[in-house]
Amino acid sequence: MGRLVVISNRIADPRKPASGGLAVAVGQALEASGGLWFGWSGKIVEDGTPGEGELHLQTAGNVQLATVDLSREDHDSYYLGYSNGVLWPVFHYRLDLADFDAGYIGGYRRVNHMFARKLANLLRPDDVVWVHDYHLMPLAAELRAMGCRQRMGFFLHIPLPPPLILAAVPEHDWLMRTLFAYDLVGLQSEADVAHFSRYVGTETPADILGEHEFRAYGKTLQVQAFPIGIDVDEFQALGQGRESQDMYAQMKGEYSRRRLLLGVERLDYSKGLPQRLKTFRQLLQTYPENVGSATLIQIASPSRESVDAYAALRQELESLCGAINGNFGELDWMPVRYIHRNVARKRLPGLYRAASVALVTPLRDGMNLVAKEFVVAQDPDDPGVLVLSRFAGAAEQLAEALMVNPYDVARTAETIQRALQMPLDERQRRHQSLLTRVREQDVHWWRERFLNALANVPAP
Ligand code: ADP
Repeated sequence: MGRLVVISNRIADPRKPASGGLAVAVGQALEASGGLWFGWSGKIVEDGTPGEGELHLQTAGNVQLATVDLSREDHDSYYLGYSNGVLWPVFHYRLDLADFDAGYIGGYRRVNHMFARKLANLLRPDDVVWVHDYHLMPLAAELRAMGCRQRMGFFLHIPLPPPLILAAVPEHDWLMRTLFAYDLVGLQSEADVAHFSRYVGTETPADILGEHEFRAYGKTLQVQAFPIGIDVDEFQALGQGRESQDMYAQMKGEYSRRRLLLGVERLDYSKGLPQRLKTFRQLLQTYPENVGSATLIQIASPSRESVDAYAALRQELESLCGAINGNFGELDWMPVRYIHRNVARKRLPGLYRAASVALVTPLRDGMNLVAKEFVVAQDPDDPGVLVLSRFAGAAEQLAEALMVNPYDVARTAETIQRALQMPLDERQRRHQSLLTRVREQDVHWWRERFLNALANVPAP
């Protein structure tokens, strides 16, 4: 196999572990093949010309990093507009939040075209190209139009919605057709693959050749589920570190008489945060033994604050937290600790380990890595319980979690109560099964499965 070329909206220096599991996993494969990582530099040029951006070349060890600046206009239409104002909400089933008529599509196409133009000059004939995520769906189609014939794969990190939701995107025909420029498309879950198959069956002229094989527009495409994992060894090592141990000791000390419930995420409407707070309120009402005892720590880091829907969500959360604390709080106990900030990654395992219950209750999520991180951080002798939304991609792999429908506040509260009361032997049993699977199906397993499948796609 030739050199690996990875393209993603943002890139990270693969040698810096703070970049997280994906960067490390992809970075290792890039190192091994002397590869190239291409993406946006993160720089916005205020008065830049749309469709133009300076290319920067750097080396990091054995890897070449190529990044391109974006003009303000391109950034706002391609990144904030089409990617995060149209594709993100629709692909998370939130048609109500999508901004269809602002004309962002022009910027999306323009930036994908520009990226392809810059990248085509850097490609070698035997490169293997791996494109990541919804920002860059049409990239292969652009590259093919420029004559690039390399093997190309695409991985979608977010869910693929059912056909009648996807069909609300005015450009859905074009968008989905561009996927046929790839040789392999990877999705997070079997549910996503089923949606793809149904879309192709009802909305395109494609022939369904098999469960994972489709033919249309003169091209055969493989589509499979590759659920992404975490770097288990890296996360366990972080858990052994001083910052994490200090965090654990601090939380255990401070909450020695309390039961800790924990939520950690970016502040995003896909994460089901208002529903979670209402569920916690219901828990206190229905099971009053938790009053004065259960504390919910909700960490929600700032995210995409210049997209309108996020500001509204932030207000709603602040108001719900204030009401719960005002109605239930006592002088020596606040039911909700809401923190609108990042927690240093080095401290996260200690925080997870101190919690009796993790609430991972998104309304829709491609995978959800927090669920997997929580499992890995637990003390196997006295593990906490994972309460997981059936709408997270991770639900297909993590069947031993307590599964909930986050829209159903009453039953989710009941399930949290069950988690709080779960006997030790059941907690250990469930945790053992979960840990085994999270460990087997880690981020390296994911990368290797995808790259093997891409290498094995029959030549056209
Ligand atoms: P998403 O990709 O939608 O943000 P995931 O759960 O798949 O959701 O991945 C989120 C990653 O970011 C995890 O590795 C998690 O540890 C990290 N993360 C999320 N929120 C925070 C936070 N508030 N502080 C620190 N790390 C966070």
